[in-house]
Amino acid sequence: MLREIDLSEISDGKLYTGNDMVKADCRGCAGCSSCCQGMGSSIILDPLDIFRLTGHLSKSFEQLLEEALELNVVDGIILPNLKMTGKDERCVFLSPDGRCTIHKARPGFCRLFPLGRYYENHSFRYFLQIHECPKPDKSKIKIKKWLDIENFRQYEKFTADWHYYLKERQEIAMHSEGREGANLVKKLSMDILRQFFVRPYDRETDFYTQVYARMEKAGEGTL
Ligand code: SF4
Ligand code: SF4
Repeated sequence: MLREIDLSEISDGKLYTGNDMVKADCRGCAGCSSCCQGMGSSIILDPLDIFRLTGHLSKSFEQLLEEALELNVVDGIILPNLKMTGKDERCVFLSPDGRCTIHKARPGFCRLFPLGRYYENHSFRYFLQIHECPKPDKSKIKIKKWLDIENFRQYEKFTADWHYYLKERQEIAMHSEGREGANLVKKLSMDILRQFFVRPYDRETDFYTQVYARMEKAGEGTL
């Protein structure tokens, strides 16, 4: 999202790289599932999340939308997020005993928590959110290990590229006016939705090759 954050209020004041050790390890969360409930529409998904979820569950994006995801406008652009349901607003993938049923394919946001990302200069570093995870006595862990995601360097590069790709479009959406502006925003949103989320990915081809090809193509003629 495009809002500014005051790191001194929400973090320990430090910025970390993927190779740094940080006190984020909740050691299996031990009965806590607090960040899997009541999160509203804040667990926003990126194309890699959808690639992994559709593959892991052998379901299309449309099927996931019926069961577990929803669409919301984020800074002017429509994006998918994990749906919270029931009176406790639980993630659909949370089991009754409080475990993640898709742990291997859990989204990037879930892997990151209680860390956050601070973006600048077409890159990012991590920060530790100090008010979000209630578990006391967390252990130190290397961020790369905490995220537990293959091709870590490529993942970080894609995460930054996707952030700035979206940001460029979100800024256009936020500053568009009138009927022409509304049409442009609608086209941008629909292009992103179709190209990166609805259109299936080839499971035999590397995800990053596919997504970068789509990033080059999507929005051609609209920016
Ligand atoms: S709030 Fe912390 S301890 Fe609880 S589930 Fe989330 S990461 Fe684990
Ligand atoms: S996908 Fe798993 S880790 Fe993420 S919110 Fe849902 S249950 Fe929790």
